[in-house]
Amino acid sequence: MFENLSERLSGVFDRLTKQGALSEDDVKTALREVRVALLEADVSLPVARDFVKAVQDQATGQAVTKSITPGQQVVKIVHDALINVLKGEGEPGALKVDNPPAPILMVGLQGGGKTTTTAKLAKRLTEKDGKRVLMASLDVNRPAAMEQLAILGNQIGVDTLPIVKGEDPVAIAKRAKTQAGLGGYDVYMLDTAGRLSIDEELMQQVEAVRDVATPRETLLVVDGLTGQDAVHTAENFDERIGISGVVLTRMDGDGRGGAALSMRAVTGKPIKFVGLGEKMDALETFEPERIAGRILGMGDIVALVEKAQETIQAEQAERMMKRMAKGQFNMNDLKMQLEQMIQMGGMQGMMGMMPGMGKMAKQVENAGLDDKVLKQQIALIQSMTKKERANPQLLQASRKKRIARGAGMEVSDLNKLMKMHRQMSDMMKKMGKMGKGGMLKQAMK
Ligand code: GDP
Repeated sequence: MFENLSERLSGVFDRLTKQGALSEDDVKTALREVRVALLEADVSLPVARDFVKAVQDQATGQAVTKSITPGQQVVKIVHDALINVLKGEGEPGALKVDNPPAPILMVGLQGGGKTTTTAKLAKRLTEKDGKRVLMASLDVNRPAAMEQLAILGNQIGVDTLPIVKGEDPVAIAKRAKTQAGLGGYDVYMLDTAGRLSIDEELMQQVEAVRDVATPRETLLVVDGLTGQDAVHTAENFDERIGISGVVLTRMDGDGRGGAALSMRAVTGKPIKFVGLGEKMDALETFEPERIAGRILGMGDIVALVEKAQETIQAEQAERMMKRMAKGQFNMNDLKMQLEQMIQMGGMQGMMGMMPGMGKMAKQVENAGLDDKVLKQQIALIQSMTKKERANPQLLQASRKKRIARGAGMEVSDLNKLMKMHRQMSDMMKKMGKMGKGGMLKQAMK
């Protein structure tokens, strides 16, 4: 069973008590289990294969963090890789609804949850984003579907386009557009007809509607429980209609979430929302972390590994502190420190972890140093030769120019960096002389 991936992996790694780097064999063994788990979670075979291969290259040789097993470490690596695949560009859940009235085209198969999702989304746009929304049903073959949208609209307080008997979908789309313009709506949503399966007539109809509406967003609504079928549906709709995003419904069910991964890998289109029930507010922004956790079914391990990694970072900071206390602080140290600062949530987070650095954290804050500046400083250090990094005072004016240019910066930026390094290194020396007690005293002042 899928739930047992964690047991499966710990079984594999029970025999391995050694710590250190992950060997190729360790990783291979673990990833075989991961692959099976992915398939059981409904990830398609080629996607699972590619994914495992990418993770394998990434994991081999990675240091195993103390206090967790290699198996757990692999799971964390897999988890992070899953999030990477699942993440689309831009803000999750963001929709292009500027330039009113912005058309949103809702497409999908019958029974996938299209009408329900249209209403849920209209409610969200109204309540969360303060938009005025008009909904229109284009499902002329199923009067009940048109009625259903009107009922939902009533329930959530969102206007629907009045039903006119005998009108075809393109005519309804045009009328919705006109009405949205005249009525001062920000958004109009077109709930297209679904079929039980993809057929030519359906596609032609949706295409014709798309051409008159020129939607800002074309959202495909698919049932997340249908796994691979959902992926095929997405592929088909994307090829024919061109979709801008996906809404996965019935994620409140016991689906494994694998469809999400395949869908993303196959279509490259972002999953924007997930449906989590029949109620009108059961629609949430898609969160890659949650789906990744669901696919792996082991959030606890991921949290454990994250915690262990935090400990390691604290250990590293302590080691660096010791070196600094001895007065050893060159540009490489500074670079490492800058990199860690970025990793650990900025300079202040880092300084806060180092004894005696409380004061400096304040200075850093006042100087307005943020990640961008940190990255620029790293680039400057990277443009230096090994010798120059060890001994930055050797830098002559001509080299300074080259280095600054190499990093796409000005000489004045380099001078600032060098000044910072000098100040830090002086401070380190002073603190080193004071010894541990002295440092603490200094920190308490
Ligand atoms: P359409 O044919 O694609 O328009 O599908 P409907 O919107 O009519 O939905 C079909 C059924 O699925 C309805 O009973 C909905 O209440 C239900 N449904 C839609 N979305 C979800 C969801 O996210 N979770 C659950 N559990 N049911 C849903």
